[in-house]
Amino acid sequence: MPVACAIVPAPAHDYSDHPECPQRFAHLGELRSLPIAEDLTWIEPRPATEDELARVHTRAMVAEVREAARQGPAIVDFAPTYVVPGSFEAAVEAAGATIECARAVLSGAVTTAFAIVRPPGHHAEPSHSMGFCLFNNLAIAVQDALAQGIQRVFIVDFDAHHGNGTQAALQNDPRVAFLSAHQRGIYPGSGYEHEVPEARGRVVNLPLPAYAGDACYARIMEDVIRPLAHSFRPDILFVSAGYDAHWRDPITTLGLSTRGFYQMAAALHGLAREAAQGRMVLVLEGGYDPQALFENIYATLAALVGRPPPADVHGPSPQAEPDIATWLDRLRVWHGF
Ligand SMILES: [Zn+2]
Repeated sequence: MPVACAIVPAPAHDYSDHPECPQRFAHLGELRSLPIAEDLTWIEPRPATEDELARVHTRAMVAEVREAARQGPAIVDFAPTYVVPGSFEAAVEAAGATIECARAVLSGAVTTAFAIVRPPGHHAEPSHSMGFCLFNNLAIAVQDALAQGIQRVFIVDFDAHHGNGTQAALQNDPRVAFLSAHQRGIYPGSGYEHEVPEARGRVVNLPLPAYAGDACYARIMEDVIRPLAHSFRPDILFVSAGYDAHWRDPITTLGLSTRGFYQMAAALHGLAREAAQGRMVLVLEGGYDPQALFENIYATLAALVGRPPPADVHGPSPQAEPDIATWLDRLRVWHGF
């Protein structure tokens, strides 16, 4: 079955030399001319409605973003997160495209969809934008799925930064399990091991040491993500797909390679088939090296459609990986896996 994709390049959402810029998508048009295009279908983005945004965000916050953008350019948090005229329309289109991707999966039209959108979403909390994110695209689509009768949702966030906004929006909902693997000690500073003790075994944070790469993520997949999926038995798997965990990324120091992203996508896709009724929705988050972003999205799509991995032009990380085995074992005990 093909994978459905929506692309929101948001050319008007652009500010000086900010890393979250339209140039991130400069190479993505190539996807339509590669052989993999035969395995993809395209979803037409549409803007999210205010009622859809309000399932996650306060109406006051939505109005603030609209007004700040209208009067922009402006910086709305210290990350820095910017708005310019056109940012509000871009952000609601990113959210709407993500909803449409999830609905395509829930309708049975496809089993897997990828919302390749910007601005990203996973740092945006219910009452404020932050971390380059205006509205939380994934959380909005999850709430839409729950409103349509889905009973249980598992979210895996592999962006290099903690998915604080998604956690804040959904951590109190027993229908949702959330796992974030991210680099320890970087923005936004949250996502430490024992952060949500009341949701032990359901809200799982894995703050990784610098240079954690393909081997560490493979271990996390087998030792934590797989048992959590099998015990939680979700109806659908959502993935915050952030490619700033690639070793070349200019704003982080993790160690995944393009081959590592391929292997992770293949493993998550297999897990969706085993434990989430085959349903999987991916949403783009970070990834700030435009060439690597294209290659990593291409590798992800190749894994999702069952093609062999494309060439890994940058190769593996040159840094040795840290040993996380003892730390991970302690965390598994704490969460009860
Ligand atoms: Zn990130």
